[in-house]
Amino acid sequence: MDPLERLTTATRDRTAAGLRRTLRPRPPGPSLLDLASNDYLGLSRDARLAEGAIEAVRKWGAGSTGSRLVTGTTELHAELEHSLAEFTGMPSALVFSSGYLANLGVLTALRPRLIVSDQGNHASLIDGCRLSRAPVTVTPHGDVAAVDAALAGARDAIVVTDAVFSVDGDLAPLRELHRVVRGHGAVLVIDEAHALGVVGPGGRGAAYAAGIAGEPDVVLTATLSKALGTQGGAVLGAPEVIETLIDTARSFVFDTGLAPACAGAALAALDVLAAEPDLPERARSHAVRLAGTARELGLATTSPAAAVVPVIIGDPHEAVRAADLCADHGVRVGCFRPPSVPVGRACLRLTARADLGEADLTAVTKALATVKKQTRPYPAPNAGATR
Ligand code: PMP
Repeated sequence: MDPLERLTTATRDRTAAGLRRTLRPRPPGPSLLDLASNDYLGLSRDARLAEGAIEAVRKWGAGSTGSRLVTGTTELHAELEHSLAEFTGMPSALVFSSGYLANLGVLTALRPRLIVSDQGNHASLIDGCRLSRAPVTVTPHGDVAAVDAALAGARDAIVVTDAVFSVDGDLAPLRELHRVVRGHGAVLVIDEAHALGVVGPGGRGAAYAAGIAGEPDVVLTATLSKALGTQGGAVLGAPEVIETLIDTARSFVFDTGLAPACAGAALAALDVLAAEPDLPERARSHAVRLAGTARELGLATTSPAAAVVPVIIGDPHEAVRAADLCADHGVRVGCFRPPSVPVGRACLRLTARADLGEADLTAVTKALATVKKQTRPYPAPNAGATR
């Protein structure tokens, strides 16, 4: 008996279904136009962030040396927590070593008796729900009435949602959700991963834009790895929430602290946002233009609220082909297939970076025109998520 045989068979099945994933190292400098990353503001290669990271390494070392509770907290971590809280309008913050771990931490440590989770939520929120061992009610995407119904009679409940949905790029109805959550004495956890640095005035996030940042029943999670151009994560909320996480969030307590280089780069990114508050708006307006182009070409897309523009293809094989066609035109785009998206909704995911120029936008138009001509997109059913 070959102990690996069932893995080989399963891999063969995924290949046949067009669901095989490959790791492709990217070249260090610009080669293809990058519309696949989450570097929404183009900050990952910004000299000011590099300088912030280098200074941090020189002063604090290449690693944080231990968990946050032992030796892994430096002045930089404290400064970053203070700056993130101030930027987002939240009372306090706690930095994790990734957004994924921040999501696991908050959904487990708050010990909810019920979690109400949007059907379109990111995998890290889904995993946090599972790890919490609380009963979970999954509600249809953006359905506030369903959230209200799910909360009836519940105690110590959490409602969790992406602020900007990671593939469809739409915005959650945060104000309405907060009204419902308040009515039931629950807590609203909002993942600002794709909103921080892109949505709201100066990129302060979706909760800030909705006027609910700083409310005692609102908790935010965020990543430093997208618009902020580095790596790491954070939870933002009332001091009581942060104290609970410090004591009991296992993904905080038992993980090595964020590398100083990342904390230094994140602080530099917040300085860039303060100096250039129009950067987020540039990314958002490029998203509206890219979605408009796709629609004019007859491709299916959504109304982007941030910098994420999906082009829905439907079939996973066709989506891969469409991504290859874009690469042939010098444009690298994301290609999302199940289980990252529901069955029938394989898509291209375009990042509308703030630093795109007219020539870049023209190149994307040509690439999408070829996709329209040479692939067979089909209208996606509004199928339930299979994640
Ligand atoms: N939440 C959302 C919505 C995300 O898209 C991601 C990253 N893909 C994460 C959380 C995880 O963040 P990180 O990459 O910092 O672990």
